[in-house]
Amino acid sequence: LAKREGRNTVRVASRRLQEQVQETLALARDLRWVVERRELVLHYQAQLDTRSERVVGLEALVRWQHPQRGLVPPGRFIPIAEESGLIQEIGRWVLDEALRQMAAWRAAGLPVVPVAINLSVSQFRHPRLPEDVAEALRRHDLPAHLLELELTESVAMEDSDFTIARIAALKQLGVTLSIDDFGTGYSSLSYLKRFTVDKLKIDQSFVRGLAQSPQDEAIVATVINLARSLGLHTIAEGVETAEQLDFLRRHGCDEVQGFHFHRPAPAEAVAGLLSSETL
Ligand code: C2E
Ligand code: MG
Ligand code: MG
Ligand code: MG
Repeated sequence: LAKREGRNTVRVASRRLQEQVQETLALARDLRWVVERRELVLHYQAQLDTRSERVVGLEALVRWQHPQRGLVPPGRFIPIAEESGLIQEIGRWVLDEALRQMAAWRAAGLPVVPVAINLSVSQFRHPRLPEDVAEALRRHDLPAHLLELELTESVAMEDSDFTIARIAALKQLGVTLSIDDFGTGYSSLSYLKRFTVDKLKIDQSFVRGLAQSPQDEAIVATVINLARSLGLHTIAEGVETAEQLDFLRRHGCDEVQGFHFHRPAPAEAVAGLLSSETL
């Protein structure tokens, strides 16, 4: 009996694996038309000043409104887009759409806050990235300081002349640069000396353990101190509880972002949030 059950388990597991592979292939196929068919949407999550709890920025997070499958999260299709090279087209759409939305809100008289977009490694390395960013800012008539680019540590880890020059070129434009998921990249800290980034985003895996894990508390406190000594801003992502917020406040983390305040939401919902901020 045990043997038969074992065989069944294997059969179920392999069927599930097969389904996942099928789904990935189907997504990869449908993804090719995603920009043309206007199926991508941006949701925006508020970033708040830790002390005043006012909204001081937004992070744009892409979703795929799939005609049959509903809203597909980025974790499900961004890796596929990176494999196929479609990430460049998707990335340009994200950049353009986020700035278009900012310009529209500004034209509607809403308070203007910077928007952050996520860049994957291959986007960071694309030859035309600085020109694309400059062009998009010009197209929407927005100053560069209203755009923040979130890079992962894996970008910074590669300590090459190219990386240094690329970061300098982006800084030259006047955009803000932040290191996303800081602390998860197994990188040496020495790049922080050479790369002129502005902000560290403390990864949510550490934030989750605040008020529970002394190790996570030590790591977060250390990152905040490190950033302060280097003149960098800090933002904690994935803040879900009042206890986590309290810790971050006591330790002087500049900004916070997470479900405790606001979930990522479509532009219409965020417009309401922004307008209530003026009161
Ligand atoms: P990320 O940039 O680190 O974004 C944070 C993720 O955590 C988002 O997931 C967000 O919805 C989620 N989050 C925010 N607050 C909380 C919280 O309090 N608790 C928990 N448990 N989660 C929270 P999302 O939107 O699914 O995005 C996942 C990742 O996909 C992003 O991680 C980013 O690396 C990537 N991504 C999203 N949009 C883009 C994009 O336009 N381009 C590229 N290249 N990557 C993107
Ligand atoms: Mg991010
Ligand atoms: Mg992150
Ligand atoms: Mg993350």
